[in-house]
Amino acid sequence: MRGVTRVGLGTKWPRMAILPIVCIPDPILRETSTPVETFDAELKTLIADMFETMYAAPGIGLAAVQVGVPKRLLVIDLQEEEDAEGKPVKDPRVFINPEVLEESDSFVPYKEGCLSIPDQYADVMRPDRIKARWQDAEGDWHEGEIEGLLAVCLQHEIDHLNGVLFIDHLSRLKREMLLKKLAKGRKDGTITM
Ligand SMILES: [Zn+2]
Repeated sequence: MRGVTRVGLGTKWPRMAILPIVCIPDPILRETSTPVETFDAELKTLIADMFETMYAAPGIGLAAVQVGVPKRLLVIDLQEEEDAEGKPVKDPRVFINPEVLEESDSFVPYKEGCLSIPDQYADVMRPDRIKARWQDAEGDWHEGEIEGLLAVCLQHEIDHLNGVLFIDHLSRLKREMLLKKLAKGRKDGTITM
């Protein structure tokens, strides 16, 4: 997975806070997020808070609109590797104003979930390789070919920036079943978000 930005979460990052996650049917999730234009300390605070919120959820990806900020910014940490004690190794990545430049012709299914659609999972077909470009927290541009779970996750999060949710990729029947399960869980109190 070449050319993918890694940002450290060292002491240069500001204080962090866990932000409330917006869930469906909040209409903000259907908004098209606007480009990030200012790369300042406030942006770094938002990024740090988004990582903190994502780790606490826990999740592997979070778009700014999911914490109520409709800006073209997302964070990902697949946490695929474990240290000697079996704890996930942090591998935080930030993508600002990301764009998909090319998509592979081959598609793969992956069971996706979303922090804004609590406890619901379904197979979604997406291109398994993409070429993308994006800015980092300093505003510098990067370009890279991305594949595997990172490609799935990045496409899912870029969808959020365009007001699209993973359930939009499902058949109507599957989507309705999933939304019924969510409604039932909320009614039962088994799903509290
Ligand atoms: Zn999502």
